[in-house]
Amino acid sequence: MDEGQSGRLMIEIERRGVRRYTCSGCGRRTGRVRATRKRTWDDLPWAAHHVTLIYRQRRIICRTCGIRTERIEFAGPKARVTRRLRQQIGVDCQSMPTSHAAVRHGVSWGKARRAETAFLAEWDRTRAKRQPRHIGLDEIQRGKGQRFWTVLSDVVHGEVVGLRQDRTEATATALLTEDLTGRQRAAIAAVCTDMWKPYLAAVGTVLPQAEIVFDKFHVLQHASAALDEVRRHEFFRAGPLMREHGRGKRWLLLRRWKTVRGSKRAELAALFAVNRRLFKAYVLREQLDRLWTYKTRPGVLNFLMGWFRALRWQRLPEMERLGDFLLKHIEGIAAYCDHQVRFGVVESVNTTIKAVLRRARGMRDEEMLLLKLKWATAHPIRSARDLARFLMIQPLYSNR
Ligand SMILES: [Zn+2]
Repeated sequence: MDEGQSGRLMIEIERRGVRRYTCSGCGRRTGRVRATRKRTWDDLPWAAHHVTLIYRQRRIICRTCGIRTERIEFAGPKARVTRRLRQQIGVDCQSMPTSHAAVRHGVSWGKARRAETAFLAEWDRTRAKRQPRHIGLDEIQRGKGQRFWTVLSDVVHGEVVGLRQDRTEATATALLTEDLTGRQRAAIAAVCTDMWKPYLAAVGTVLPQAEIVFDKFHVLQHASAALDEVRRHEFFRAGPLMREHGRGKRWLLLRRWKTVRGSKRAELAALFAVNRRLFKAYVLREQLDRLWTYKTRPGVLNFLMGWFRALRWQRLPEMERLGDFLLKHIEGIAAYCDHQVRFGVVESVNTTIKAVLRRARGMRDEEMLLLKLKWATAHPIRSARDLARFLMIQPLYSNR
């Protein structure tokens, strides 16, 4: 034992009574050692000291692989920190910036980042592969401008599965073929997505057996856009009374009635009292919720027809256009009757993705970003027990 610069404790370790070493290539054991080389691994701290282990790693002559390094149990093949320290850094990085975790564990930023990547990759590699019935394809905007990610997710369990740049058909096809196994693809009954044509084309080619279910959130976004058009139109041709009540009400008007409370409801009611047409458009938008309450496709179609009838004589061209749009996409809306995709899960996955992207702003490494998204949406640590499992301290060597 020896104290290096900056109070780091250097501990030399040696395995005693061992004459055979494991080949890092094939796992066979051999006693033929060609050379040894001192290498170091950062390890868990002791008292106030950060610890570095020094071990003379063998280069062995393997019968099948030739000259190879000895496999060591306490660290991954190229790792510069021990497995048990990697676990601590990896878990910490999920709740604090990499730079903080690096300071906490006395390693450089680069080492901490590599440890985190290895930690997440190992977690992802060793967990069970799920076979969701419903998957989601969605676009996420990257920063400002027309730059997008396409995200593939398991919307049954609410987990991100894959991530690619762009939102082209080729991107979606690559995600569906490369990020899912054949078995997983065969298990898919429905794909939840928006009305973006390249995605629809990719799903049609790669997953011919799966049905498209349009994301309720996206459909209602179109409805809100139509309502907003009505508002703008009414506002401009309105007299002073309407302007008085309508000013600054845009966000209030676009909110769903059930989320509007108390005095805000009164404000909306006052606005509707001076403009019937806006009121009518608002009610029509609110009614669209019922598109997802029917058990059969004819039920959905009937409802939409009734909705159209209510629109007659109202002179609301924006809402009529919305109706045409809904009719054109009725199949993907009514598909919900047969495949009850959990829209709440779809939305919460999207919220989590946006939160991770905000924190990881400027992250260049796509692989790392995907791993982080997988971790954040899968919530692998839900209890103290889960945490203990991740942080369980492995011995340097087993006694085999
Ligand atoms: Zn070998």
